[in-house]
Amino acid sequence: MQLIMLGAPGAGKGTQAKKIAEKYNIPHISTGDIFRANIKNGTELGKKAKTYMDQGLLVPDELVVDLVADRLQQEDAKAGYVLDGFPRTIPQAESLDAALAKMGTKIDYAIDVEVPDENIINRMSGRRACVKCGATYHLEYAKPKADGVCDMCGESLILRDDDQPETVKKRLGVYHDQTQPLIDYYSGQNVLKEVDGTKDMNEVFADIVAILGE
Ligand code: ADP
Ligand code: AMP
Repeated sequence: MQLIMLGAPGAGKGTQAKKIAEKYNIPHISTGDIFRANIKNGTELGKKAKTYMDQGLLVPDELVVDLVADRLQQEDAKAGYVLDGFPRTIPQAESLDAALAKMGTKIDYAIDVEVPDENIINRMSGRRACVKCGATYHLEYAKPKADGVCDMCGESLILRDDDQPETVKKRLGVYHDQTQPLIDYYSGQNVLKEVDGTKDMNEVFADIVAILGE
């Protein structure tokens, strides 16, 4: 099963991608997580990516496309994957299609998690993230067991720099300009599925399972 998660920043792509990965036993590939791991490890890629991420801008396509193409060649991605945060531009989607065509395969579904802009700022200001293992929480809707501590690995949780309200507004603008056109792109390929992301996260997941099958 080869899946793409679409949706605004904070729509719940990562939340749903993790549940999908667990249920269907496929890797969750998040380009945001890959960049954050690179930033944490002080790599050249991380340094370059950080300058864009901190401003709420997209990292240039050329820094993302090969990285994902390589990741999809790895053994654990043979049986499928759920891509979260990639593609984010039409050129990225076209390069992904070209890379998949070379591998003799294609995307099964692009799942668009729909949440209006009004709800996004609240979602993002309450998000808390673990930079060590990538787990995500929400102060109101998905609380960790102990305040400020990751349930999975015990690391301290943070408010991501790019989740500050001013940066979120910028990211929403970038989403509408550069990423939203992918909805038509995948609709044109007859693989687009839309779910209502304003529902409770378990209900959203049930709607996704209804699309993908048990
Ligand atoms: P994305 O990966 O699309 O940026 P996340 O999955 O990190 O978004 O979700 C953003 C924030 O909203 C997180 O704090 C998450 O716990 C919370 N969240 C996700 N889905 C829902 C939902 N259906 N209802 C309420 N909060 C949600
Ligand atoms: P995310 O964790 O998906 O919210 O991504 C956080 C940030 O990483 C984004 O705001 C971008 O700056 C950068 N990023 C992640 N994925 C991509 C991508 N496919 N293309 C460009 N930038 C990306």
